[in-house]
Amino acid sequence: MITQADYEAAQARAADLLRKTGIALRDDELARIAVADFGLGDLARTGAQILTLLDTQEIAVKLIALFPDQTLPEHRHPPLGEYPGKAETLRCEWGRIYLCTPGVPTSNPRARPPAERQATYTVGREFVLNPGEQVTLPPDTLHWFQAGPEGGVVWSFSSRAVDVQDYFTDAEIERVTVVGA
Ligand code: ZN
Repeated sequence: MITQADYEAAQARAADLLRKTGIALRDDELARIAVADFGLGDLARTGAQILTLLDTQEIAVKLIALFPDQTLPEHRHPPLGEYPGKAETLRCEWGRIYLCTPGVPTSNPRARPPAERQATYTVGREFVLNPGEQVTLPPDTLHWFQAGPEGGVVWSFSSRAVDVQDYFTDAEIERVTVVGA
């Protein structure tokens, strides 16, 4: 759970990060940044601030702002019936993003999962994404990412997004943010 005050503070902080990109974003868009604490109540370490710019039955375009060292936890986008699952391209726009995927784990990775949740991070082939660098993930591929010390802004270009159906490795995660008093 996250308090309303913390939610709004995170929105404002994320808006500041998004403004630094120089991307043309309207105030009414910046006012509807979604804050996700993934139910862990530890937003500074596990969380994401997501601005959805386009969301149709075919494609989705989102900007994800991460605070310094904040981690978007390990997940995959599973098949749903005939749909093979969301294919996603992550492209760094500002700051730096450490993206971890299946494959031979990177020795001396930059990304460090939140210490007490380490067991819920199982993939560690790391890509260091600077602005303008991107990686495309096929559907149903485990991935997680963390911002560098200045924070980061990353584009998510994808096929249809069904966020509530995402599978998270950490069984304690709740994808729908609960906002308390
Ligand atoms: Zn994803």
